[in-house]
Amino acid sequence: MASQESSDAIAGLSKLLSEKAELGCMAAARIRQLTAELEAMGDNPFYPEPRIKTGFNYFKKEKFEKNRGLFEQLAKGQSPKFMVFACSDSRVCPSHVLDFQPGEAFVVRNIANMVPPYDKIKHAGAGAAIEYAVLHLKVETIVVMGHSCCGGIKGLMSIPDDGTTSSEFIEQWVQICNPARSRIKADGNKSSFEDQCTNCEKEAVNVSLGNLLTYPFVREGVLKKKLSLKGAHYDFINGTFELWDLDFKINPSICV
Ligand SMILES: [Zn+2]
Repeated sequence: MASQESSDAIAGLSKLLSEKAELGCMAAARIRQLTAELEAMGDNPFYPEPRIKTGFNYFKKEKFEKNRGLFEQLAKGQSPKFMVFACSDSRVCPSHVLDFQPGEAFVVRNIANMVPPYDKIKHAGAGAAIEYAVLHLKVETIVVMGHSCCGGIKGLMSIPDDGTTSSEFIEQWVQICNPARSRIKADGNKSSFEDQCTNCEKEAVNVSLGNLLTYPFVREGVLKKKLSLKGAHYDFINGTFELWDLDFKINPSICV
């Protein structure tokens, strides 16, 4: 907790800043700086700029400078072998989990690592990334990587059966994998909610693999054996990673 004195000082400076419109720019800037410094003396100060600078300096010293050859090569272009769909969750960065180096993986991250079905209007962002990866970069493998404790999947499993939603975007988005939810609900009545969510994390990956086949260029790549589709599930509680191939029996999800 900030001390009473520092709280009072912050309050005093803020008041001064708001009241003294005639204060010169320099004085106002100094007061803002003092206010920020005092606030930082409070509970658990966090400084984003130094953290970003330190992070980049470390990367530059340890990775960039030590791998000049790689980065000179990458400056000419990229030819990643992998495209990866991963969740936006801060715990599941595929470059960390799978040790991908710069240039190795073309990555899309979104809520619950979902691949929406082909739709030029609703899902142009995902379509553009898949088109670029498959037709221009000519990736050889697309991995859809689910993970443990996925909040997006929990959200999907928590939508009431009457379909009532309360979020602006999240529930609409995660319903891309409604077929997974339906399958898990249909045969998971005896399982705990947590187990149902874990099963849905994996089943949703299968729905996404099916959805990838709704893109003609993906279908063609798979049929010509130039492209393989793989499902994965990273469990960061047990530290395990499951990998499986596309099952052709999977049905693409219905557009929602
Ligand atoms: Zn997630």
